[in-house]
Amino acid sequence: MVEPGRLRALAVAARRRFAPVLEAADTHRRRALLGLGAALLLTSAAAYALAEIQPDLPARSVVAVSVGNDAPAQTRAIDGADIVFFRSTDVRRQDTVQRLLGRLGVTDPDAVARLAADPRMRVLVSAGAGPEPVRAQVTGRGELLRLAAALPLPRGDAPDFRPVWRELEVRPDAEGGLTVAAVDRPVAVRARLATVVVHGPLSRALLQAGVPQSIGAQVGKVFAPQLDLHRGLAAGDRVSLVYEMHAVDGREVRPGRLLAAEIRTHGRTLQAVWFAVHGDSRGGGYYTPAGQGLEKVWASSPLPGARVTSPFGMRMHPVNRRREMHEGVDLAARLGTPIPSVADGRVTFAGVQNGYGNVVKIGHPGGYETVYAHLDSIAVRRGQAVAGGQVIGKSGATGTSTGPHLHFEFHVAGRLANPLQMARYVPQGRPLPPGEKASFYAATALLRTQLAQASGDDAVRLARVD
Ligand SMILES: [Zn+2]
Repeated sequence: MVEPGRLRALAVAARRRFAPVLEAADTHRRRALLGLGAALLLTSAAAYALAEIQPDLPARSVVAVSVGNDAPAQTRAIDGADIVFFRSTDVRRQDTVQRLLGRLGVTDPDAVARLAADPRMRVLVSAGAGPEPVRAQVTGRGELLRLAAALPLPRGDAPDFRPVWRELEVRPDAEGGLTVAAVDRPVAVRARLATVVVHGPLSRALLQAGVPQSIGAQVGKVFAPQLDLHRGLAAGDRVSLVYEMHAVDGREVRPGRLLAAEIRTHGRTLQAVWFAVHGDSRGGGYYTPAGQGLEKVWASSPLPGARVTSPFGMRMHPVNRRREMHEGVDLAARLGTPIPSVADGRVTFAGVQNGYGNVVKIGHPGGYETVYAHLDSIAVRRGQAVAGGQVIGKSGATGTSTGPHLHFEFHVAGRLANPLQMARYVPQGRPLPPGEKASFYAATALLRTQLAQASGDDAVRLARVD
């Protein structure tokens, strides 16, 4: 039994003994934070040894030592047991769970074996680099204290804008093992405003303004029917945007949807706002502030860019050598070229008809009809609903034809029209359903205000928006 006075004296002696160590640790930390800014921040001598053992350290590693006033804690810290390494690394190509854990400094064989066998860890690694690096807290002895990784986001043409952020989390459990759980984190959706003045490529201007690439891609797509953003803009043109950013724990983790955009080019102002029509299975679309849909609902041709081998109008017929009306255009197409419908509609005829050979006729809303003739094969039935872009057959040379091509006709209210001038007749975009106008103006009022703010304009313009 030690008397209290003696205990106090021991504690003072211990503090004195460890004081230089504490000072050294502090000096190291200051130097590392201020001067080096290096990949590896060291606060204690013990970490040097680890740096030598682990030459393949990840890009980022921070070491924390629990610094207290009590000497025993310091002694343990210098042993390495109480050092906590905060490390992060991206999943690399052809990674394995073992390699990933190795870069994070996890050497505890039980943890490595447990996680290498976990299907969710395997999915994480096989999916490649995620939206954020994998983060881990590891002791100086290579024991895992915590691992967290954002699970991969959907890829491809149809991005998922739902504000969902799911993380894989690994923590020690009460039995001394590890639990792996998928955790949904709360996501805050923020609106961001940006305006860029174009001098060179738009993509560069957006990048310099910190606008995410996927937002730039959405802008290009929204205005594609009206303007080629990569070639159509001139120096001095202005692009203003309102877009979503998803934030987790205050960090902006990924871009969301483009909400509104304005392009001022060559004296024109093009505007788009996002709106979801009630009950629309497509989820929503872009409209002018006046409520005209911007999504192109009619293609300019079933084969855009194809050579016109015979125009619409009076001509000498190539087969019967008589002067007569050519009721459509002939478009060069190799045998078997897939032929899409130019717009949504319903098949009014599909089969063989005299000089046409195999022919498909499609009726479209608004009193329009399109005809696709000399087909080699037909892919639709009479009465079937077809979507714009849906393949209705393959090109050929059936009926009265000198060789494989597509004969294409366009009828407006039962009368022939020049298919090359189809865009003059057809609706440019889907109009809002009449019952949706009020909710459209209410829902997009804020977007229109934000757009005006982003473009830096005054109240006069705001009042003029609709
Ligand atoms: Zn023809």
